[in-house]
Amino acid sequence: TQQLDIAKIRRDFPILNETINGKPLVYLDNAATTQKPRQVLDALTGYYEHYNANIHRGIHHLAEKATSAFEASRRRIQAFLNARLSEEIIFTYGSTDGINLVAQAYGRAFLKAGDEIIISTMEHHSNIVPWQMLCEEKGCILKVIPISEEGELRMEEYEKLLSERTKFVSVVHVSNALGTINPVAQIVEKAHAVGAKVLLDGAQASSHLSIDVQALDCDFYVFSLHKLYGPTGMGVLYGKKELLDAMPPYRGGGEMIKEVTFEKTTYNELPYKFEAGTPNIADVVAARTALDYVDELGKEAIAEHEHQLLRYATDALEAIEGLRIIGRAKEKIGVLSFVMEGIHHQDIGVLLDQQGIAIRTGHHCTQPMMQRFGIPGTSRASFSVYNTMEEVDSLVRGLHKVKKMLG
Ligand code: PMP
Repeated sequence: TQQLDIAKIRRDFPILNETINGKPLVYLDNAATTQKPRQVLDALTGYYEHYNANIHRGIHHLAEKATSAFEASRRRIQAFLNARLSEEIIFTYGSTDGINLVAQAYGRAFLKAGDEIIISTMEHHSNIVPWQMLCEEKGCILKVIPISEEGELRMEEYEKLLSERTKFVSVVHVSNALGTINPVAQIVEKAHAVGAKVLLDGAQASSHLSIDVQALDCDFYVFSLHKLYGPTGMGVLYGKKELLDAMPPYRGGGEMIKEVTFEKTTYNELPYKFEAGTPNIADVVAARTALDYVDELGKEAIAEHEHQLLRYATDALEAIEGLRIIGRAKEKIGVLSFVMEGIHHQDIGVLLDQQGIAIRTGHHCTQPMMQRFGIPGTSRASFSVYNTMEEVDSLVRGLHKVKKMLG
C-alpha cells in the first residue's frame, strides 16, 4: 500500500486549524463523526450555488441536473458496496433510520409471535431498540450473543442460539465502543443455514474496511455518511432486491407512489418505494465526493495508517499506571476505549478538552455492554486518516496531567 502524506491530507480539513481553549485542536472523536474535507464542503455549496432544485419532478434544466447528480451518487454507492443493482441502494437519514426501516417494513410483514431475533451484547442502541419495539408489537423474542472479556463475540454461543425459530440476525460489523471487527461473513453463513435473514450495521466499518455485500451475502447493510468524511443526515440502506421488493413501504408520501386515488394507491418501484418525500439532495450529492476522497487515498492505506496509530497509542496508554484498555479483540479498528483507576471518565473528558483534545466519554450508546463489563462508561479515543503520532503524544501527555491532578 502507498504511504499517505498526512500533512497534505490535514490541509484538506479546514476545521483542523481551529484552536480550543487556546490550544490546537486534537480531534480524537472520529467514531462519533469524522471531519469533512474541503472537497465535500465544496460539493455541498456547489450544489446550492449552481443546481439546487427538487429531483425527479421538474423537467427544467436545474431539476434535471440535480436528479442526475443524485442518481450518480446512488451508482457510486452501489460500486462502493459492490451491490449487484443500483435499485438495491436506498437513501436514508443514517444507520439508525436504515435499521428502523428494516425492523418496521420487513419485521412487520414477515416476523410473527414466537419468532426469534438475534442481536449481540456489543450493539449500539440503534440496533437494539428498533428490535425491542418490534418484539413488543409482534411478540417476537430477542436473543443476545454474549461477548468475551476481550470484547469478541462468543461464536460458539451464537451457534447455540441459532435454530429453526431464528428468523432474523442483526449484528454490528465493527463495534463503536471497542473497535472489534466481527466475523460477519461467518455470522451470515450460519444464519442462512437456518433460514434467517441478516442485517449488518456498518456504521463504523464503512470508513475502515472494504465492503462487498455480495461476497458477505448479507441481506441488508446500513451505514452513515457522516462517519465517512461525508455530510450529516444522510445514510444508506442496502437490501437484496427480492427482499426489498417483497417488503411493504415504510413511510408514505410523495415520490414513493405510482398512482394515488382515494380508493387505492399503488406504490412506486425500487428504490423510490422507500424514499418518500424530498430527500437530503445536497448531502446525497456530496456523499459521492466523500467516497471519491476515500477511494483516492485508498482504504487499505487509510486502514494501515490507523493501525499504526492504534498500535502506538495502545503501547503508550498501557504504560500509564492504573489505565485499563477495554476491548482487546485480535481484529480491531483504530478505537481505544479505556478506564482509569479512581478517575471518572467525565473528568477525563473535561480535563482533556481544556487541553484542546476531543475524545468521547460515557456509554457510547452501548449501555448493555457497559453493564457486561461492570463499568458506567469509558473514555474513547478513535482515530482517522488525518490523525498523527504527535496527537497521540498529546493525548498521553494529557492523560498524565489528568492523573497528576486527580489520581
Ligand atoms: N451503529 C453504530 C455501530 C454506530 O457507531 C452508530 C453511530 N454512533 C450508529 C449505529 C448510529 O448511526 P447514526 O447515528 O448515524 O444513525
